[in-house]
Amino acid sequence: MYRISRREFAAGLAASLGGVPAVVGADSTRAVTAPSPARTPQATRSPKRPVVISSANGYRFGATRVAYEKLLAGADTLDAVVAGVNMNENDPEDMSVGYGGLPNEAGEVSLDSCVMHGPTVQAGAVGCLYQVKNASLVAKAVMEHTDEIMLVGEDATNFAKAMGFELTNLLTEKARKIWMLWRETRSLRDSWGAGLDSPGYDKMQELKRARGQEFEELMRKAAARLGIAEEDQAFAIECVLRPPHGTISCLAVNAKGEISGVTTTSGLAWKIPGRVGDSPIIGAGLYVDGEVGGAGSTGRGEENIRVAGGHAVVELMRQGKSPTDACLEALRRVQHNFRAYPQRLREVDLSYYALRVDGTYGAATLWGPRPSGRRGQFAVHDGENRLEDMAYLLEWKN
Ligand code: ASP
Repeated sequence: MYRISRREFAAGLAASLGGVPAVVGADSTRAVTAPSPARTPQATRSPKRPVVISSANGYRFGATRVAYEKLLAGADTLDAVVAGVNMNENDPEDMSVGYGGLPNEAGEVSLDSCVMHGPTVQAGAVGCLYQVKNASLVAKAVMEHTDEIMLVGEDATNFAKAMGFELTNLLTEKARKIWMLWRETRSLRDSWGAGLDSPGYDKMQELKRARGQEFEELMRKAAARLGIAEEDQAFAIECVLRPPHGTISCLAVNAKGEISGVTTTSGLAWKIPGRVGDSPIIGAGLYVDGEVGGAGSTGRGEENIRVAGGHAVVELMRQGKSPTDACLEALRRVQHNFRAYPQRLREVDLSYYALRVDGTYGAATLWGPRPSGRRGQFAVHDGENRLEDMAYLLEWKN
């Protein structure tokens, strides 16, 4: 028996209403014209040339360059950003994305990704995907080949297999050794016990920190024993002590004002198996509105989910805020969530990247330069490929 799909039903409904977008209220016999969302005057202009922005690792691994080249060659904006982030996914030196990413507690690399196509408002996502390098391409396949938006876990892997993706071991030797170091020494901060949002968090930290500083010396010895190269030991120890986040979020607009975005990650290192961060969540790790712009995020996904950051940034731009101010305002909401224990915010690293359909862009991160002097940056390509400093919300004081 032929069953009409939801898409066909919606299309038929729209046609029967003469193409007028309609919402059906409590009185289902009366169709009401849906109000179109307010637009900012700037948002109706197209940029003169394409603009690509991403997290800083997009510059280092070539994502912004590749995405920009694709746009110049006439590619669709979504194809362009996905081709861009494939650079990070395929490069094992980006240990926060795709192949070579740091694994979960059990030593398995699991990936999260979502894509959103502004011109058609289509979206696709995968969470906790195993054994496939390019989570962004699988997310795009969900968008293009199914009536669903998100697939997760082994079922997402099975879907990828059915779509012809190659299954492969994503855990590199380098990542495996750092994971072993973590197992042997354990982090001061892992995912178990009272979380950052819990009243019991401080007590828990006190107990964990009681292990003291001599711990680092012990870790150095363990790293050497595991065969971690001397030049990689400091990085490996840092990964154990402060489990790193890392992700690439990339947005692009072409000269016609069409916009798309993608976010892809291996997520938080040493996460509990099954943990899905913000990166595959439409409205958190990414949101794109073809009439306004798009926003993506990197950093502690749990905090971003709690403010639905990607969507919030786009809505703030719709209301007229500049991309940078919209990012800062979303960060203020995160800060507000920590009003009962502001000192805990120091554990949070979070950044937003925003691009409007007129090509205006901005990015902001929670913290200003650390004592090391390291300042948050993001990648921009608008004909010139470069890194720019991000705005920040809070001054880091010792
Ligand atoms: N947002 C990602 C997650 O929470 C990680 C990151 O961007 O650092 O999984």
